[in-house]
Amino acid sequence: MAIPLSVIDMIGNTPMLELTQFDTGPCRLFVKLENQNPGGSIKDRVALSMIEQAERDGRLQPGGTIIEATAGNTGLGLALVAALKGYKLLLVVPDKMSREKIFHLRALGVEVLLTRSDVGKGHPAYYQDYAKRLADEIPGAFYIDQFNNPANPAAHANTTAPELWRQMDHRVDAIAVGVGSGGTLGGLSQYFAEVSPQTEFVLADPAGSILADYLDNGQIGEAGSWLVEGIGEDFVPPLSDFGQVRNAYRIGDAEAFTTARDLLRKEGVLAGSSTGTLLAAALRYCRAQTEPKRVVTFVCDSGNKYLSKMYNDHWMLEQGLLSKPQHGDLRDLIA
Ligand code: PMP
Repeated sequence: MAIPLSVIDMIGNTPMLELTQFDTGPCRLFVKLENQNPGGSIKDRVALSMIEQAERDGRLQPGGTIIEATAGNTGLGLALVAALKGYKLLLVVPDKMSREKIFHLRALGVEVLLTRSDVGKGHPAYYQDYAKRLADEIPGAFYIDQFNNPANPAAHANTTAPELWRQMDHRVDAIAVGVGSGGTLGGLSQYFAEVSPQTEFVLADPAGSILADYLDNGQIGEAGSWLVEGIGEDFVPPLSDFGQVRNAYRIGDAEAFTTARDLLRKEGVLAGSSTGTLLAAALRYCRAQTEPKRVVTFVCDSGNKYLSKMYNDHWMLEQGLLSKPQHGDLRDLIA
């Protein structure tokens, strides 16, 4: 393998790991380690794809300005690619986001504009409306709009899906995914409809999100709240595609976080919270099977952003997600 000349060349081609320490019933369960992308998440692929598509379309000129509304993994991926390609990146971020994320973005050269978290769609301070307005006002600025950008699912149809298919020796019975923007589900569905239409999709949805109910009965109900980050919605994202989804599992925060903590203890993989939801759904699916199947899910992002949250017993206790702490608080460390 040639030594990469840029971190951009290290996006994608992530490894696959078989999990051997969980009860997977008659199935074999594999995880694709998207936490090993240089920005730490599956969204690096999407950031690169959306920026390179805009370059090809001429919507982004050298030295131009990119605008997006997010402090999540898409923001980090965009910040990385924009820094290396010499674009200016302006991110509109709701002010409830963690300071760590904002410091990380600023260190990458991003101009972070904080806006109110307590206003909804249609309010001028709502982060997406604010970003759209800035994109209209700044000459030559390009609004990424990951929820409506076809280069988002294309990243998965062109890279994630063929890698997964090759790594699994062209034998995949089921894939468990979560939906945030719907890019992963949309892109994988598109690829697998072509190469392996019998591969079924399993939706891993945080309890409180409307998507599992929408899949089961076509109704869009009232959304609740959940602590898992990056997946679950209160609307149906236009880029998602539920055509090949055969099962939906609603996973509560306690089960998601406990499963992610087990993944670290049992298999040594430090994953983020959405991975807990995906893995819990994949395990439920595996254990419900009567035939042996080959099942794949994702480690969507790295867990180091969540060390003071779900990997901290006292935070878990405060949230009512753990009945008693396994470790004391930090005062125990001081002799
Ligand atoms: N997990 C994490 C941690 C994420 O940040 C995202 C993106 N919001 C997803 C999963 C879901 O991916 P998608 O946007 O492709 O639906």
